[in-house]
Amino acid sequence: MHTYTIALAGNPNAGKSSIFNALTGQHQHVGNWPGKTVEKKEGTFTHRGVTVQVVDLPGTYSLSAFSPEEVIARDFLIEGNVDAVINVVDATNLERNLYLTVQILEMGLPLILALNMIDVAEEKGIRIEDEQLGLLLGGVPVVRTVGSRKVGIDRLKDVLIDLLERTPEETRSPFHIDYGRDMEREIEHLAHAIEAHPELGHRYPPRWLAIKLLEAEEDLLQRVRRTPGGEEILRLAEESRERLTRVYGETPDILIADRRYGFIHGLVRRVLHQPRQEGLSLSDRIDRVVASRYLGIPIFLLVMYLLFELVVNVSTPFLDWVDAVFTGPVTHLAYAILTALNAPPWLTSLVIDGAIAGVGSIMTFLPGLMILYIFLAILEDSGYMARAAFVMDKVMRIFGLHGKAFIPMILGFGCNVPAVYATRTLENARDRLLTGLLIPFMSCSARLPVYVLFGLAFFPHHMTILIWSLYVVGILVAVLTSVIANRFLFRGHPPSLFVLELPPYRMPTWYGIWTHTWEHTREFVVRAGTVILLISIILWFLLNLPWGVSHPRDSYFGRVSEVAAIGLRPLGFGTWQASGALLTGFIAKEVVITTMGQIYVGETLEEEPPQTSWREDVETVVVGFGKAVVEAGRRMFNILPGLHWEGEEEEMDTVLAATLRQAFTPAAALAFVVFVLLYVPCVATLAAIRQEFGTRWALVSVVYQNSVAWILAFIVYRVGLLLM
Ligand code: GDP
Ligand code: MG
Repeated sequence: MHTYTIALAGNPNAGKSSIFNALTGQHQHVGNWPGKTVEKKEGTFTHRGVTVQVVDLPGTYSLSAFSPEEVIARDFLIEGNVDAVINVVDATNLERNLYLTVQILEMGLPLILALNMIDVAEEKGIRIEDEQLGLLLGGVPVVRTVGSRKVGIDRLKDVLIDLLERTPEETRSPFHIDYGRDMEREIEHLAHAIEAHPELGHRYPPRWLAIKLLEAEEDLLQRVRRTPGGEEILRLAEESRERLTRVYGETPDILIADRRYGFIHGLVRRVLHQPRQEGLSLSDRIDRVVASRYLGIPIFLLVMYLLFELVVNVSTPFLDWVDAVFTGPVTHLAYAILTALNAPPWLTSLVIDGAIAGVGSIMTFLPGLMILYIFLAILEDSGYMARAAFVMDKVMRIFGLHGKAFIPMILGFGCNVPAVYATRTLENARDRLLTGLLIPFMSCSARLPVYVLFGLAFFPHHMTILIWSLYVVGILVAVLTSVIANRFLFRGHPPSLFVLELPPYRMPTWYGIWTHTWEHTREFVVRAGTVILLISIILWFLLNLPWGVSHPRDSYFGRVSEVAAIGLRPLGFGTWQASGALLTGFIAKEVVITTMGQIYVGETLEEEPPQTSWREDVETVVVGFGKAVVEAGRRMFNILPGLHWEGEEEEMDTVLAATLRQAFTPAAALAFVVFVLLYVPCVATLAAIRQEFGTRWALVSVVYQNSVAWILAFIVYRVGLLLM
């Protein structure tokens, strides 16, 4: 008959030997671990006709290679053909003990948690929701024991035999800590290389080894080095470690330990109830406020408000400057060159009214977007976003969503496309699909320019509140959608259980903020220089075809837009220009602005640009920039309560903003931005949704979003008419 081998693991003094004795009784054998002076105890027992050999591992707090005991325990777990592990945990010290548990689970071993010292815990008033604890660890059976009095031992044996007799597929634990975007990228990259290696890929679980190599565990590094072809993997690991160290200013082993503790911290907050203790860490004390039940959400909304206050105040002076540079010097220079080359008038118009007007109108918003990216990076790198997710979790649960979905959703504030892919971190299909459908309602940074432009044109004194409200409307629509989806689509599929990591707060590094900001900025600039440039040029042709039309309204594009505009009339912006802008916005939402730049500004600037000297142009660029810096500084200073730095309150305006005021009523403008927030996801997002969830759901997304956008814009317009 087959004999199973199980290992008993746990921290020193957790009660391992007591459990070992209770399990095996007299059938024990004491020796040494091969080549070590550490004692090895083995024993057997037979229960329900199954014989089990039990190996008592040395007591350790961790499975790193800090001591011979840790190496013995770890090697035995990896190489000892262990069928299962009983992890003896001291219930009075759950948080510290779980660190080992998590590491065993990461090896992918079937595990039972013996919640020992439960008698002492109860005396101290500690209450542990053991079922919940097991579920959150990915379906781990939890048995309460009192080792010294043999309480719970029969149950432990029963549960163990049940676990052993399940097929491997059934027992394989899906346990997986989320180490955060940057680290996960490196882990995935390394694990791929390890998997492809003929020897290492078999000997060790690839993800586990990848994490260990990032932790730079010396003895594993050596083993890999001795393996043929291991050098290459070590080199990759070294590169990954360097990248991470530069971004976070800490070595990966510390970051990994942080995330593990963060996971455990988040877990313990959910399942452990104990009387107040003393001696909280700084991180805990900050969390008392920031992640508290009552203050958490108001603080999150306030943080968002401050974020937009900064974006609006700091970016508008620069916005003015970039606008002046593009409509001034850049246009003049292009005009001069084209004239010198004797270019035909149509080509001049293509370059100036097409390419420069299009790309320029969107580049205007780059400074504001950079501010947004910088602050999103700070919030993420510091650990605040994890708290925001933690806080939102409670609310989102009410609506059938959970906090883990909140992280892809927050990513959506940057760009919806990576956010849709980020839903892969969610455990079950229902959560992934639902979150994927909600993400397009998260207002991505491509939509921000539209809000800023309309805000400038119509509500210059209420910009922050306008922008903030639009983001909040997006979140509310997403929440409502979730409620509807749960009612009709996912009935009987509750959201899965999960733990939100709460890693300690960390000072972001300059380098980290810079890389994360640059990632987004580069993407935006590349898009402006490629897709948007191309669309601007195509649009110019569409606006001028059939060749020689006197007014863009009579062009092909104008005529199609005119028809589409009929559907928008009830919303207050049923003009061919607005509908045309929205049509092109399907390609990318910032294109709404470039199209308007071409249609509206193209209409007004039909005469030749004025002649200026190069000195005036240089002045526009240099002096304009200096002024913008000072103005941005002044505005930032004035955000601080109680401080005031007098300056001439210049009205910030762009040529396009001024033109828009003639074309829209304020109510229609408001309806328009709401429509832009909610309507059709851009092609890239749609492609991502299609790739992740299939064509059917991509279509559902288009139809649903356009309907919601239409209805809400209609309501906003009608209410706006009554009020304005
Ligand atoms: P090990 O270091 O993990 O092997 O722990 P031991 O089994 O040697 O236990 C350490 C001490 O805790 C001993 O004095 C045990 O009698 C005591 N002990 C073990 N389990 C329990 C328990 O569940 N409740 C109480 N009150 N004491 C226990
Ligand atoms: Mg012992």
